[in-house]
Amino acid sequence: MKSKVRISADDKIVVLTGAGISAESGLRTFRDHNGLWDQYKIEEVATPQAFSNNPELVWEFYKLRYDQLGQVFPNPGHLALVELELRIKDNFTLITQNVDGLHGIAGNKNILEIHGSLREIICINCRTKFKFTEIDMGGKIPLCLKCGGNLRPDVVWFGEIPYYLDKIDALLSTADYFLVVGTSGSVYPAAQFLQISKQYGAYTVGVNFDKPDNLVYLDEFHQGKSGEILPQLIDIWLGEHE
Ligand SMILES: [Zn+2]
Repeated sequence: MKSKVRISADDKIVVLTGAGISAESGLRTFRDHNGLWDQYKIEEVATPQAFSNNPELVWEFYKLRYDQLGQVFPNPGHLALVELELRIKDNFTLITQNVDGLHGIAGNKNILEIHGSLREIICINCRTKFKFTEIDMGGKIPLCLKCGGNLRPDVVWFGEIPYYLDKIDALLSTADYFLVVGTSGSVYPAAQFLQISKQYGAYTVGVNFDKPDNLVYLDEFHQGKSGEILPQLIDIWLGEHE
């Protein structure tokens, strides 16, 4: 493997991750079409309208996702990103589209979960947040421990605005390196982050199983599994393999 990147402690790095890095931990997504969630339509379980129309159905779907969450763990791709953050500390920011919380479990600290996290559950009435492990999922709709209101996963549904967009704009304008992992480059607004960082002058690197849609904005592209590529790539970046 070859890369032109060599990281020093004052380099600013922004990393964007998507579903591909989680898929290697065995996490299934809506796009897999593997039968698990075929009986659910996205618009019936992942929009604010769906939740107000039929919260029982939305929770039926999310309970399957919570069952799955207890069975998945970080893979070597996640762990390589922890190594990178340990080296450059506050100059590292990880933006993720994933809602599984695996980057936090792996040990990354400076994480912006732009689509929220399944690991947090929020009351639609009093806005109190709970850890998902605190909540009794036995009933049809889990209820707030404080006010008894309906709870929902603290994830960004279709038709809702992703978190941290203002902060991300500032980060992209000052990044020396932008690394994008495991995304097809087709989900907005995240798909634009690569292009924006490139326009601001960042050196851009992509790692993905397939060629992404926005390949043209990448200075380097490494095709394959992120769990195999990232550990090697980040070793090179940190000067541990010349
Ligand atoms: Zn409440």
